[in-house]
Amino acid sequence: TISPSLLTISTTTSSSSPYHSLFLSLSSNTSASSHLRRLTSLPHIASSHADSLAASYVLSSFPFPSHSTSYSVLLSFPLLRSLSLLSPSSSPLRFSLTEIPAPSDPYSSLASLVVPTFHAYAHSGAVTAPLTYAYYGRVEDFDKLRSLGINVTGTVVLARYGKIFRGDIVKNSQDAGAAAVLVYSDYQDYAQGDVFPDGQWLPQTGVQRGSTLRMQGDPSTPGWSCRAGEEECERVDKEEIVRQGFMPAVPSLPISGKDGEELHKAIGGQVAPDDWQGREGSPVYHLGPGPGVVNLTYLGNETLRKIQNVFAVIEGKEEPDRYVLLGNHRDAWTFGAVDPNSGTASLLELAERLFKLQKKGWRPRRTIILCNWDAEEYGLIGSTEWVEENREVLTSRAVTYLNVDSAVHGPGYRASATPQLDALLIEASKMVKDPDNPSQTIYDSWISSSDSVPVGRLGGGGSDHAPFLQHIGVPSVDMAFGTGYPVYHSIFDDYSWMQKFGDPMFQRHVAAASIWGLVALRLADDEILPFDYVSYASELKRAVKTIEEATAGSPVILSPLYKSIEEFNAAATKINDEKKVLEKKFWGIPLRKDQSKLRELNDRLIMAERAFIDGQGLSGREWHKHLIYGTSKYDDYGSKPYPGIDDAIIEAKKLNTTDAWRSVQHEIYRAARAVKQSSLVLNGGL
Ligand code: GLU
Ligand code: ZN
Ligand code: ZN
Repeated sequence: TISPSLLTISTTTSSSSPYHSLFLSLSSNTSASSHLRRLTSLPHIASSHADSLAASYVLSSFPFPSHSTSYSVLLSFPLLRSLSLLSPSSSPLRFSLTEIPAPSDPYSSLASLVVPTFHAYAHSGAVTAPLTYAYYGRVEDFDKLRSLGINVTGTVVLARYGKIFRGDIVKNSQDAGAAAVLVYSDYQDYAQGDVFPDGQWLPQTGVQRGSTLRMQGDPSTPGWSCRAGEEECERVDKEEIVRQGFMPAVPSLPISGKDGEELHKAIGGQVAPDDWQGREGSPVYHLGPGPGVVNLTYLGNETLRKIQNVFAVIEGKEEPDRYVLLGNHRDAWTFGAVDPNSGTASLLELAERLFKLQKKGWRPRRTIILCNWDAEEYGLIGSTEWVEENREVLTSRAVTYLNVDSAVHGPGYRASATPQLDALLIEASKMVKDPDNPSQTIYDSWISSSDSVPVGRLGGGGSDHAPFLQHIGVPSVDMAFGTGYPVYHSIFDDYSWMQKFGDPMFQRHVAAASIWGLVALRLADDEILPFDYVSYASELKRAVKTIEEATAGSPVILSPLYKSIEEFNAAATKINDEKKVLEKKFWGIPLRKDQSKLRELNDRLIMAERAFIDGQGLSGREWHKHLIYGTSKYDDYGSKPYPGIDDAIIEAKKLNTTDAWRSVQHEIYRAARAVKQSSLVLNGGL
């Protein structure tokens, strides 16, 4: 154990706990790299044998009591895919729809074990129709096509990956009348330099697989969950899921940059706008429709499969019933070296360090739970089923959820969070060295790459923090090193890509584990939770400014929302003052705190976020219950403050009726009431 003399010099907050600095000093890049090599030795799509081997590996590598929970969920697999260009060339051109790894890539021999390129939950069907080009497939791109007089009805839309969630590309195309959709990785976005294995970029045959499900969790159990082996369990059938717009109603396929370029050559008609063009040397892109006609045939198999979440629990000493949750998914479309197992490797390395702390006598104040999710790729399924199953327990006990999906895609730390955690993230970033510039901290590099607060806002779906934040209102964080990376969801996301380009020294992996673990330790050990709601108040206010701009000239009033934010700010200031009183020292010596007072204050800090949850949820997407942060309705990856107000404004701008603006006003009142509920929680009393 650490000598008692070391312990007594600690100040009131456990932030300077000697165990926390010890944690930082215990990092091991060789441990991270060996975990990653093991985890990525085979492709391991959700519910596959290789995925369950990986689950056993995680289960046995956790140095703490661990267990797993299994659910039976509706997954989707490709049975038949075919794509041919029928005209204008005289002989039809049939695409191979196969990624070709370079023989020098050590993983190329395992290519046959990787799932063929497909869109999970794509509609089964065969379509023969002319092509149209729709740029990134965003709502504004279809608006642009309409304004140019292009009718995509009945055509096969060719759209580019890269700006929005693919499920929304398919939905937007479907809503515009498309009969089918092809989504490709344009060289301009994905091949800006040497391609793998010579460089980090996506080879010509590379394809981005991915889900097109437009909901979170098992689509057959919306809002509840079915354990594997449970005999009687309610399920919604597939037709109903499609009817509700959660699964696409038109077929789609993801295709390579090479195939996309070939199809472009077959599209004539108006020349596409300048910014819709490809890189230099690419053919000129036209909008269509036709004359190129394609036949797209897809047959998928939607079937119930067993998935497995794995957990390790480090029980808290003083407050075992308060949970600090760290989560990462395990399932991968291919080998998963970046997505997601760079995160899994970091999690295991972090766990080993916590185990060493435990051997030195450390016990967390609160319980720490390490979570390793399955079937994230299909639509955050493992995490969502668990959150839905344990909704009430988590609602009363969860302190924070810290998500790391792909821990490392390159250099540069980034984090998004609910704003009461901003200050903690910043403090933690000052304690960890930048793996790419060890003469400075992560904070120094982070701050220089952004203007004001470097912490981004959560709300966007895209990973396992979504059910925690949007469904049950748990303060959350999502972090990683690197921005996008071109081999995403392709066969090229393997260990050799990581070794060559992602993180050759595995120092980014350990830095990710350091900051993830340090934030978790503060949340688990600090007597007073390191939450600051004053910064939440200023974020709430900043976000109303954008609403104000969007509603300028309309009849709506924002004063109710402004007023409740003022009250919230006062409540946040008041609770910060209460914290200071509790932290008072006598001649530099911290006083023993009244434990029930401490508990009461911490509960207010935790529950203030829950108050943003509205039982009814957002209209038209009721599972999303957080009224302050949500996903954008037309891009699941995008984050929107006040999503309910935002949805209503979009509608009102389209219809411009008194009723539609009244709905905007209603949403403003709803948000104001949620903010008020939260201030009452912070104020703590009637
Ligand atoms: N992270 C996965 C993806 O981007 C799943 C996202 C989702 O279904 O929301 O494809
Ligand atoms: Zn992922
Ligand atoms: Zn992914």
